[in-house]
Amino acid sequence: MSAAYNIAIDGPAGAGKSTIAKALAKKLGFVYVDTGAMYRAMGLYFDRQGIRMDDEEGISRACGDIRISIRYEDGTQRVILNGEDVSDRIRTEEVGHLASACSVYAAVRQKLLSLQRDLAASTDVIMDGRDIGTCVLPDAQTKIYLTASVEVRARRRYKELLEKGKESSLAEIEEEIRARDWRDMNREIAPLKQAEDAVYLDSSDMTIGQVIDAILEAASSRGLSPDRTGR
Ligand code: C5P
Repeated sequence: MSAAYNIAIDGPAGAGKSTIAKALAKKLGFVYVDTGAMYRAMGLYFDRQGIRMDDEEGISRACGDIRISIRYEDGTQRVILNGEDVSDRIRTEEVGHLASACSVYAAVRQKLLSLQRDLAASTDVIMDGRDIGTCVLPDAQTKIYLTASVEVRARRRYKELLEKGKESSLAEIEEEIRARDWRDMNREIAPLKQAEDAVYLDSSDMTIGQVIDAILEAASSRGLSPDRTGR
């Protein structure tokens, strides 16, 4: 087991993982690692190269030309793709779908695995994604499976977009979320599922504060010292 304390948060799109993980990282003085952003950067690269998402051979070959790294600016993760900071560019629904489509391939997952493990080996991290508790950090001291109903997740996404001044269709968002869930849960390699030793949290009827409290409680019962959790 590593010397660092690792918290793994997995769950479907729109369950609130990043909001919760960011807040917790700040509270605990941990580093927040958003692994979805790394898959998004990969998807963006293939798309820019004109490589189709069903072209596994082309994607696998192109993996050799990609360098992904992350950097922190004022505690915020920035994703660097071949020297370019793509952190803002990757935050669209379209890039989310590219990420989901290319993340089914072994070469893509393999490319990011060591980067993710290295980040967690010597640093206290809260890492969120789909396969963190099951594959990336099987020894993480605290594992959380954070979910919410499709309807609640779609409504949250709809509101988020509206706040950014973007009109969208709630029915379409719901459909897209269902499609992404299905693909993430049914792929052959590292599908989204709850790790056996993960705490299951359904945030549909919980406030952000309640989710944070539940995770702090789980972490303090799994060896995170009270002077860090405030418990
Ligand atoms: O979490 P986010 O929406 O940024 O993730 C984008 C996509 O990247 C997910 O739908 C999923 O297919 C993929 N992903 C993954 N494994 C992770 C994180 C993200 O396959 N650990």
